[in-house]
Amino acid sequence: MRDMWTSHETWVYQCCRCSATWHEDYDVRHFDDGHGREAAVYQQAGQQTTPPWYDHECPECHSANVRAFTGFWNEPIPVRNRGHAEDLALVSRLRRMGAY
Ligand SMILES: [Zn+2]
Repeated sequence: MRDMWTSHETWVYQCCRCSATWHEDYDVRHFDDGHGREAAVYQQAGQQTTPPWYDHECPECHSANVRAFTGFWNEPIPVRNRGHAEDLALVSRLRRMGAY
């Protein structure tokens, strides 16, 4: 694999149980996987982490039922009344992007 570029992403999270919101910053190292596709590795403070949409826990109530949104903290957060079908659409879109 060849290191191609690094970008910065801010992810916003909302707990589906207590409605707490928070955000986390990631550095994303993008690679060409050698087969014409792009792969990405997420890092925080120089350490590789799990992808930002995976395996998060609410800091308030410790529920694992957390939704993740990519974007900027200052933008409106589409968190209310989102259906399960939209979650699946987000997952399939991320898969098409080769994010995981
Ligand atoms: Zn919570």
